[in-house]
Parts: sequence; C-alpha cells; structure tokens
Amino acid sequence: MTVDTEEKPIENHAFEADVARLLHMMVHSVYSDKDVFLRELISNAADACEKLRYEAIASPEILGTSGDNRITVTLDEEGNSLTVEDNGIGMSRDEMIDALGTIASSGTRAFMERIEASKGGDGAQLIGQFGVGFYSCFMVADRVDVVSRRAGSMEAWLWSSDGKGSYSLTAVDPAEAPERGTRITLQLMEDAKTYTARWSVEKIVKEQSGHVPVPIRIAEKPGAEPVQLTDGTALWTRPKSEVSKEDYTDFYRSLSGQYDEPALTVHFRAEGRHEYTALAYVPGSQPFDMFDPDRKGRMKLYVKRVFITDDAELLPRYLRFVRGLVDTSDLPLNVSREMIQESPILTAIRKGLTSRVLSAIEKLSETDPDAFAKLWEEFGAVLKEGIYEDFEKRTQLMGLARFRSTTSGENWRTLADYVKDAREGQDAIYYLTGGNIDQLKASPHLEGFRARGIEVLLLSDSIDSFWVMSAPEFEGKSFKSVSQGGADLSRFAKPDAAADAEPQAPTGEVNDLLTFARQALSGDVSDVRASDRLTESAVCLVAPESGYDRQMEKILQSAGRLDAAEKPVLEINLDHTMIRAIAKHAEDGAFREDAVRLLLDQALILDGEKPSDPRAFAERLQRVFERAARD
Ligand code: ADP
Ligand code: MG
Repeated sequence: MTVDTEEKPIENHAFEADVARLLHMMVHSVYSDKDVFLRELISNAADACEKLRYEAIASPEILGTSGDNRITVTLDEEGNSLTVEDNGIGMSRDEMIDALGTIASSGTRAFMERIEASKGGDGAQLIGQFGVGFYSCFMVADRVDVVSRRAGSMEAWLWSSDGKGSYSLTAVDPAEAPERGTRITLQLMEDAKTYTARWSVEKIVKEQSGHVPVPIRIAEKPGAEPVQLTDGTALWTRPKSEVSKEDYTDFYRSLSGQYDEPALTVHFRAEGRHEYTALAYVPGSQPFDMFDPDRKGRMKLYVKRVFITDDAELLPRYLRFVRGLVDTSDLPLNVSREMIQESPILTAIRKGLTSRVLSAIEKLSETDPDAFAKLWEEFGAVLKEGIYEDFEKRTQLMGLARFRSTTSGENWRTLADYVKDAREGQDAIYYLTGGNIDQLKASPHLEGFRARGIEVLLLSDSIDSFWVMSAPEFEGKSFKSVSQGGADLSRFAKPDAAADAEPQAPTGEVNDLLTFARQALSGDVSDVRASDRLTESAVCLVAPESGYDRQMEKILQSAGRLDAAEKPVLEINLDHTMIRAIAKHAEDGAFREDAVRLLLDQALILDGEKPSDPRAFAERLQRVFERAARD
C-alpha cells in the first residue's frame, strides 16, 4: 500500500434543509434519554455487517483479510471521545453524501411532527423508527468524524461535521482507515463524559443492543485489547424454552427501533416440506407510516443466518405492521432478490407464516381480550383490509373484527355478538360508514333503527366502505348500509309502547309538498320520498338502492376514481312538525321553493357536506327568517 503524503483537499457541503432542521433539534434537544445514540450507531454497524455478508456471497473478494464481522466500541477518557467501528460494507464518498447529508425517506418530517406533538417528551425513543438514527449522535457530540472505506475499494473518506449546517469530506490515506467498514468517532460534549466510563457504556450496550446479531467488543482506551460484550448469536435459532420474555423484548426493540413492549410474539420452527424459523412481533403501537402507500413489509429474510433482504414480502399487506424475520435453509445463499419474489418456497413460507400469525392473534383474542382489544385499536383498520383482499382468510378475519355500534358504548362488539342480539326477523347486519365515530353517532339515518332497538355498526375507517361491499353473508345475514335504499323498517314494531303509536296518515297538504319537492329538486336528487328511518330529524339523504353508498362515493371521488356521484334520494319525515308547518303554506310558492331547497341543504350539512351554493343558501335562509319574523 502506498502512503500518500500529499495534502488532501477538503470539500465542504451544506446539509439538506430538512437535515439541518433535524440536527438543530438534536443539538438543542432536552431529551433525558440520550443513550439511544449508541443503540443507533450499533444498529447501523450491524446492518453494515449484514450487507457485507450478503454482497460477499456474489463477490467474496471484497472480504479481504479483515476477518469475521464485529463491532468495536473504544473509549477515550482523556480525549473525551467514543468510537464505534465496524468491519461491514462501509461507504464510498458518494454513499456518504447520500446517507449522511440527506434523508431518503419521508422520515424526518414525520419524525419532527411526532416530536412536536409529544413536546419532546419521549422524542429520543422515537428516533430509530424514522430512518434518522445516525443524526442522534449530535445529541452528545460536538463533532463527529466518520472514516469509511467501501469493502473492496482502495479509497477511504473522512466525513466530518459539528452538526451546524455543513459537513466536510476529505480523502484519507487508506493506511489510516479501516481495511473495510466504518469508524465513527464522537468528540463528546462536556456533559457527556459518562460515555467514556466503561461500566456505563457496557451497561447501555448490553441493555440496548444485547441481541444484535454481530458480536460487540469494548476497548477501555485507544490501543487496549478489546473484550467481548455480546456474542452476536442469533436469538431466533435458540429454542423457545431458552429465551426469556426480556430477551424477546430486547430483540424486538433492536429490530424495530421501537421502545415499547410487543403486543404479541410468535416464534416457531417449521419442519417437513419446508424448513424455516420465524420470529414475528406485533408491535405495541402503530409505526408512523402504516398508511403510507409506499410502505413495504418489515419482515427480514435470512438464508442460513445471512441477511438477504427486508423486502421479500413475507406477509400480506394487511399484516404490514408485523416486524420480525424468517430464516430458511431451503433457499440457496446466492439467491437473487428478484428470484426470491418468484420462488415457490417463499410462497409456501408466506402462507405458513400468515396462518401462524393470524392464529396467534386469534388465540390472544380468546385468552386475553383486553390485550387483544388494545391490539385491535392499533391495527384493526389494517387487519380489516384482509377481509377485502384475502379471500381465504376473510372468514377468520371477520371473526376477529371488533366494532363500535349504536349499542356498544365504549365496548367492542363482534359480528357474532351482533347476530346473537339481532331482532326477530332481522335478516341484515346494518351499518353506517363515515369519517369519524362522533359524526356517525349523530347521524339522522340511525334514528329509526334506534327507536326500534336495532343495532347498527358504526364504521369509521375508510377501508370499511370497501370490505362491507364485498363481504359475504355472516351467519346468514348480509351487510346493509342504513344510508342506502329503503330502510324497510315498518315491519319492526317499536319496543317502546308510547312511540308505537301509529304514525299519522300523511295529509293531502303533506303529500302535495312531497310532489312539489320532487319537481323542484329534480335536478339535484333522484327522488324525494317519505322516510321511515327518521324519527327526530326532518330530512336526510340516502343513496339509491343499487350502486355505492354515500361514504364510498366520497372516498372514490376524493381519490379521483369516480367522476359523478349518483344523485341521492331526499327522504322527508312527514310526521315532523316543521314539515307539516311548511306544507300548510302551499299558496306561497316562493316560500315553498326556498323551504324545500333549504331542506336539501340541511340534509347535505348533516352528511358532513356543504350546501351546493353557499350564497344562495344564505339568501334563502335570510328570506325565510324575515318571513317568520313578520308573521
Ligand atoms: P437508517 O439506519 O434507518 O437507514 P440512519 O440515520 O441510522 O438511518 O443511517 C442512515 C444511513 O447511513 C444508513 O442507511 C446507511 O446507508 C448509512 N450508514 C450509517 N452508518 C453506517 C455504517 N456504520 N456503515 C455503513 N453505512 C452506514
Ligand atoms: Mg439506523
């Protein structure tokens, strides 16, 4: 190796704006728990070692002579610095610019929003989830130097920054760089001296990174012989009986970057036609990007303990919140990522894993309903996608599904509960979909059902509109929207005797008003008819019998997937005192016109929409008020 004695030019680069903002936050952070920076550095070092092992399968020459993968933490009390070094894949100059100066994903913004929402409280614990882990070292360091050499390359580079807006890049003499991999040196802040004390760093590493699958060593001072802290054995290869709950939780944390308790842990070894080990966790809370359409699954694939990809779609999309890994010996090590996608072995693993995860969730619902309820609150909206997408599992998923309803209060109801309590002769499972539960509860569409003691499911997730349309019958009952078609409620008596009084027969005046409204509003609605679903409200809109219900139309329209909505039906409560009063003024054509238009607008507002012409609405309202004030 030639030793280069020339002066190396220093290039200065500004951080991308988002990174600069993030760094400012890190530097000025008030987080009490700054230890997480070490977890993040070690996790990156371990990722780099796993990437190296994978690349070396195709190009073994990149391994050089650096030996087995390891991570070394070196303390320097005198110099007040801490170094984390790995012999993993390393970074080229361009990779450093990409990885340590920009942010590839939507991570930062999401992270900062979350931090602002949490007022900085548990901010430090969130860092790892958002792909911004590296920058957390600026919570404890004044200056960070990263020397890295891409495995197989003759060049090495130094990235250096004080975290204040810019960083520099300098070529370094390869003789002074690791043979391959990355050495990160933190010049610690005055108040971060504790990170040079061996007992304290040891404790942090064991607690936070005890199950990282690469051995970690610690050197007490520069030049000292390192001692091993963790052995880097893969937790998932150990028999279940030898793994404690704490071990599982620790491993989950280092895998997910989340600091909560997993809601469910599934660890098994499949034998027989296909051999694989799987360790899967349902997290304790939602990942920030659960509804990001680009979000990939989070199950890692290993072949004989070598990490291959985290992109193998080992679970269906509706289980995308599950974290974990599958390790199989059935695939060749040199399998390409493209081949993996088409492999029948993978299809079989996916099937087996899906069944195991679902049955574990099902079991939890039976053995620990409270824990299950919490899981459902976090992930129910995603699980319900499976009713729509996974034909094979939908019956099982419908069994798992929990609902709020008009009678549930704060409890959850199952479809089986619903059917058990259905009224005699009720052949449908009634539901109402909409944006949020409070709005749903206030919907006029429910009045007639409430009055007759018929339970209605309140569905407030957008996926609900989809699965109810394709769901098969449940125990012989089909799903029916209460905001669509005729309610057909007259066949159910009202249980409450007082309310049971026969509705007064519509008078001629009222029928006349109905005919008038039908004509006046014919451009806006497909029909105007007497309602049997309203008891207190005067009007409501319902969707025609066939086609989409109103909420589904809204969803499709806002996604640009539906040009024109069907004209709705305006239902009028002919018993309502206001309707009867309006009907009395048949002689005043202008007033009647204003009134029926206002009724339509009122129905729109109750549906969470705006009057179609706000100005005309205001003018009509004014005329009607003036008339009322005059009388
Ligand atoms: P994440 O690990 O979620 O990608 P980080 O902020 O922790 O986010 O790291 C950013 C990127 O920097 C990594 O994805 C990786 O490309 C690069 N990186 C950081 N540390 C190392 C390292 N020790 N070796 C190789 N690459 C690294
Ligand atoms: Mg990281």
